[in-house]
Amino acid sequence: MPPEAASDRLRVGAELVRTGRVAEVRNPYTGGLAGTVPMAGLAEVRRAIAAARAYRSTLSRYDRYQICQRAAALIRSRTEEIANLITAESGLSKKDSVYEVGRACDVFLFAGNAALQDDGQVFSCDLTAHGKRRKVYTLREPLQGVISAITPFNHPLNQVAHKVAPSIATNNRMVLKPSEKTPLTALLLADLLCEAGLPPEMFCVLTGDPREIADELLTHADVDLVTFTGGVPIGKHIARTAVYKRQVLELGGNDPIIVMEDADVEEAATLAAAGSYKNSGQRCTAVKRMLVHEAVAARFTELVVEKSRAVVYGDPMDPRTDMGTVIDEAAARGFEEKVNDAVSRGARLLYGNVRRGALYSPTVIDQVDPAIPVVKTETFGPVSPIIRFRTIDEAIRISNSTDFGLSSAVCTNRLDYITRFVSELNVGSVNVREVPGYRLELTPFGGIKDSGIGIKEGVQEAMKSFTNVKTYSLPW
Ligand code: NAD
Repeated sequence: MPPEAASDRLRVGAELVRTGRVAEVRNPYTGGLAGTVPMAGLAEVRRAIAAARAYRSTLSRYDRYQICQRAAALIRSRTEEIANLITAESGLSKKDSVYEVGRACDVFLFAGNAALQDDGQVFSCDLTAHGKRRKVYTLREPLQGVISAITPFNHPLNQVAHKVAPSIATNNRMVLKPSEKTPLTALLLADLLCEAGLPPEMFCVLTGDPREIADELLTHADVDLVTFTGGVPIGKHIARTAVYKRQVLELGGNDPIIVMEDADVEEAATLAAAGSYKNSGQRCTAVKRMLVHEAVAARFTELVVEKSRAVVYGDPMDPRTDMGTVIDEAAARGFEEKVNDAVSRGARLLYGNVRRGALYSPTVIDQVDPAIPVVKTETFGPVSPIIRFRTIDEAIRISNSTDFGLSSAVCTNRLDYITRFVSELNVGSVNVREVPGYRLELTPFGGIKDSGIGIKEGVQEAMKSFTNVKTYSLPW
């Protein structure tokens, strides 16, 4: 969005409302203006929730299917423009942004198809001695109230798609607050959805300062459900604040890749580096710890360094660039400090830890103690800490030793190892010989412990949590 498109107008239902204030969004690489957005205050939030609450969708399953399919087609046809906007506001490389646009298309394709499916059940009631010759039927209804959605900065399009597509598929009304760091793509998506035929009352994007507007989105009486993706501190604040509302909380991660002694070390190092650096390491399911058996640790480490050196990082708009900036200079400084701290505690810096503004290089540190902050807490950037272990018991213990439980990757072909990892890793998913982030946009996704309260996302599960099941019984 060019700066001249700056506007303080916010779409609330079918109305355009002037907020009188705008916020600037800066390009993390150039420091230039990426765009401006209207700043909603409490009045606009209340107006948006009221407009959404008053609206009752009459869209058929086929209508919703068509809107989602048209949205996917529109997004695909404007890949270049959308990817440029994602890159401008987030600093993610154009390669990462183009990939993200493709993922968002998949979200809408799956949501459209899922809208056509009916998972209603029929229970015959003559099952016991005191049964009757009746039947109980189930159906899913949209929520009575509004859905509040709050999204993080790291996937400006796809995180929003994962909220709104299941909401459309289930005939709900949603108000969404994107990250104030990357709000431009969410506004563009809202325009595309209108173009695809979505009634504007069904999706409203509220941009503004979370300190001013977030609590209203969590506590308003007409909000039935809060769906949040972001970090643990805000997730726990929401858990305390959104009282007697359904909550879907997708929080941080600290995912390991575990490399056993029988692994294909080349494959494991490729997965480890890809999992660590894609999206500038800013994925909830990025590889944040590399646990490697000491028998193959030397070769694995050598290969990870080689692959880290091969990552082209720099100008995010350059089509050759693999890795752009992280979200801002403060984040990059944080990684530098964490790595310096790890080195002061005995880790060996093998590559990187170079920073220029918000640009932070791929970084490899070896001989990392599993108890130090760089691996005990979530390091949401392109840092590859290598931890060595001797036995599978030790690998499982280290893996489970943080507060997080999102996903994991294990590199081995031994079924006895795989069986143990699947049953003993305290996580939401285990990917054998794949990165922790591997999934379909359709499949159940989400973590346990501090990574989430176990209510999953992914189009199918999100549609379940966005609906109420009603039963009715008939004499036939
Ligand atoms: P964040 O928690 O700082 O912010 C997330 C959102 O919360 C933003 O929209 C922000 O404006 C909003 N917010 C701020 N204050 C709020 C308040 N008081 N009440 C309600 N909302 C408020 O997260 P971030 O830095 O944007 O994103 C990075 C984090 O997100 C990482 O921890 C990452 O692991 C996590 N994440 C998790 C998943 C998942 O699916 N589990 C996916 C992506 C990112």
